[in-house]
Amino acid sequence: MRRNTVLSLVVLTLAASAQAASQRDDVCTRGKLVAGVKFDSPPFGYLDDAGNPVGFDIDIVREIQKDLSAYCKKTISLELKQVVSRNRQEFVQNGSIDLAAATTTATFARMDSVDFSNIYFVDGQRLLVKADSTIKSVRDLAGKRVGTAQGSTSEVNIKAAAPKALVQSFAQYTDAFVALQQGRIDAVTTDSTILLGLRAGATAPADYKIVGSFFSNEPYGIIVKQDDSKWRNFVNETLSRVGTDGTYKRIFNKWFGRGTKYALTDPKSLISVPAQYPVRR
Ligand code: GLU
Repeated sequence: MRRNTVLSLVVLTLAASAQAASQRDDVCTRGKLVAGVKFDSPPFGYLDDAGNPVGFDIDIVREIQKDLSAYCKKTISLELKQVVSRNRQEFVQNGSIDLAAATTTATFARMDSVDFSNIYFVDGQRLLVKADSTIKSVRDLAGKRVGTAQGSTSEVNIKAAAPKALVQSFAQYTDAFVALQQGRIDAVTTDSTILLGLRAGATAPADYKIVGSFFSNEPYGIIVKQDDSKWRNFVNETLSRVGTDGTYKRIFNKWFGRGTKYALTDPKSLISVPAQYPVRR
């Protein structure tokens, strides 16, 4: 009886502390935000000439870091860890990163293992081919070698849209683009803005073209651990703030604005996306 009482007390205490714990407070205690970002997906996450990770997603993460410093009432540092499409959910699940801002489409299938913030960018899938290619759309891919990334929605979508294509999945989008440059594949497929980024980063961008219409819908969310609403809401509050105070617009224009290297000429992305969620205090 006495043993049982002690046991149930232990169980109750454990349950209470498990409920109260949030990644948000872990970050405060640690004094550091560990964010998973891409190094292979320009202009969302890539390495600049000096080898530093930069990009749209990284700028969004820095806004979360800023809000954390205010919330935790101390300086929160930032560690950027490389993720690829294949491992970003797993890294959040096992706690090696606090979140992943990594061009991730918020799908219900993924929500079986992780949660997502509100949507902060919308894209769709297209094709990147050599300038002299005869491929004009997904209808021209029968028997063609098409590269994409392991664990991406792009991999799933292309198999459905072009069942006769020979899909090759690479660890990183940059590897797929190298394969295209070397003639080992005939096309690269993923979200149009990443294709734009790969093309813009080439020595001769004019040697490549983006073709076909969008054949998927890719709304991006930031990955957070499942069932941690305090942390998810914290991230959402930053997205809400940046969407309403002009910060999102500034970051968007920095990366995609007219005259920039990655200027969106054919945007599916909606600049108003985060501002659709102005959940104020
Ligand atoms: N947004 C798509 C996805 O989450 C494709 C880009 C990527 O692999 O990150 O799978």
